[in-house]
Amino acid sequence: MPTTHNTHPAAPPRIVIIGAGPTGLGAAYRLKELGYTNFHMYDRHPYLGGLSHSFVDPVGFTWDIGGHVMFSHYDYYDKCFDTLMGNDYTLNDRESWVRMMGRWVPYPFQNNIRHLPPQACYECLSGLIRAQSGRGTTKHHSEAANFGEFIDAVFGEGIAKHFMRPYNFKVWAHPPEMMNKQWIGERVAVIDVERALKNVVLGLDDFGWGPNNRFKFPLKGGTGEFYHRFAKPLAGHFTLQRTVKSIDVDAKLITFADGGTERYDTLITALPLDVLCRDILKGEVPATIRDAACRLRHSSGYMVGLGLKRPCPSTKSWMYFPDSDSPFYRVTYLSNYSPFMTPEPYTTDAAGRRNGRFYSLLCETSCSEFKPVDGSRIVEDTIRGLESSGLLEPGERDDIVSTWTYYADYSYPTPTVDRDAILAQVIPWLESRGIYSRGRFGMWKYEVANTDHTLMQGVEVVDRLLNNVPERTIGLVYTITDDGRQAATHERSSLAGSGEKRVVEVKG
Ligand SMILES: Cc1cc2nc3c(=O)[nH]c(=O)nc-3n(C[C@H](O)[C@H](O)[C@H](O)COP(=O)(O)OP(=O)(O)OC[C@H]3O[C@@H](n4cnc5c(N)ncnc54)[C@H](O)[C@@H]3O)c2cc1C
Repeated sequence: MPTTHNTHPAAPPRIVIIGAGPTGLGAAYRLKELGYTNFHMYDRHPYLGGLSHSFVDPVGFTWDIGGHVMFSHYDYYDKCFDTLMGNDYTLNDRESWVRMMGRWVPYPFQNNIRHLPPQACYECLSGLIRAQSGRGTTKHHSEAANFGEFIDAVFGEGIAKHFMRPYNFKVWAHPPEMMNKQWIGERVAVIDVERALKNVVLGLDDFGWGPNNRFKFPLKGGTGEFYHRFAKPLAGHFTLQRTVKSIDVDAKLITFADGGTERYDTLITALPLDVLCRDILKGEVPATIRDAACRLRHSSGYMVGLGLKRPCPSTKSWMYFPDSDSPFYRVTYLSNYSPFMTPEPYTTDAAGRRNGRFYSLLCETSCSEFKPVDGSRIVEDTIRGLESSGLLEPGERDDIVSTWTYYADYSYPTPTVDRDAILAQVIPWLESRGIYSRGRFGMWKYEVANTDHTLMQGVEVVDRLLNNVPERTIGLVYTITDDGRQAATHERSSLAGSGEKRVVEVKG
């Protein structure tokens, strides 16, 4: 157990959890599972789930805060899902695409450049050959000092120009030169020249993953349903709509916005680390710690959901948009994930065809000081983007029967070049004061910031505190798969961990 300041020697230390998103829920669930009772969790919102909450709009469409697809890497997470969800889930085939230059390119982009116009295809291929033969002007990827250099080194200038740079700027809203390359994996071989040539010359489509490409999704209630189901096992151990205003690190005292207070011995927090250090912590906090945390960068995001009264025109799951004729970087046919995402469920006939009167599109646009977005125009700009990229036919906007918007101030934790140095300074200091900052913005590591990772960060920190088991997730460095996704070397299930692809041979 951590050193405590408990006033009752016989009582177990008081553990307080701030934030009832996946991180806090994972921690609380594990504490309960281990039979620990002296803990309580708080959240400012009236619901569990944090960024993984789902909303139902007045028309009856269900919305997630951005497309949430489960790519579990953990048996524990999968078992937790199965325990809480039972059979209440759907199984979906992933079908992801890139929309660019007025055409559809199967994802991953770099495997399918044959779908581009000939000139662009040539530029991508010749750039790749130059980069990987060492004849270009770019460095070897091992020498790349940042994500921008890494893109050029691995993919060459054609793929960088047509896809990697524009797409990544749309997602991250930060110049790639500000970002590190660690988040994508230290050892790399994203696509080799031979495979690219083969696909182009022989006209092959290459989806980059094997048969194991299905993902689970809650049957009703969207992504958030899974997290709402923690309410029952955690009954009595959480309070919602209670906002933490300050934390006195010396007195180990939390003050809430309602004026109430609570003492803790150990604190687990999923608050954004910069907010925690800058605004919330009081008492003896070194200026160097506050200053370091304030250098962490993030992007914000506008989620725009459009509910249409029309049969769904596509079987696609989600799509990526590198081009500048649309504001969004990703659009999801959310209604394809479950029949119950729309006001009326669709039905499926014997031939597997879906019949339904509604469908929904969820569009994500990032923003930052480098990429300002006019929030007052985001719905109209999104609809125009859908029209110019061909997702909405002329006149189809008249079928929009619901519009839902959500602004996430903290959407993506930017993996900046100095991020790891900042974390190496701030996290140990917090821990020396009994504060364990974990989660998407608590740990700020995008590479371990999905729902499975964050839930497990909560689980693992409890295992460390109670049983001295070292944490694994927060220190994970992934290799990457042949379609550019991260692959873990630790366990993953064959199903909920859907979408996990073959790990490419490590080069160089
Ligand atoms: C656009 C987008 C797309 C995503 N897509 C995927 C995906 O496809 N697959 C996937 O697995 N994951 C996805 N994620 C990630 C997923 O949402 C996160 O992993 C997860 O929600 C993070 O959990 P967390 O508990 O660390 O943080 P959060 O969910 O942010 O929870 C933190 C909690 O702290 C609370 N809090 C903050 N301040 C205070 C305060 N002062 N007092 C009290 N409470 C406070 C908040 O209300 C919140 O509930 C996506 C996220 C985004 C934003």
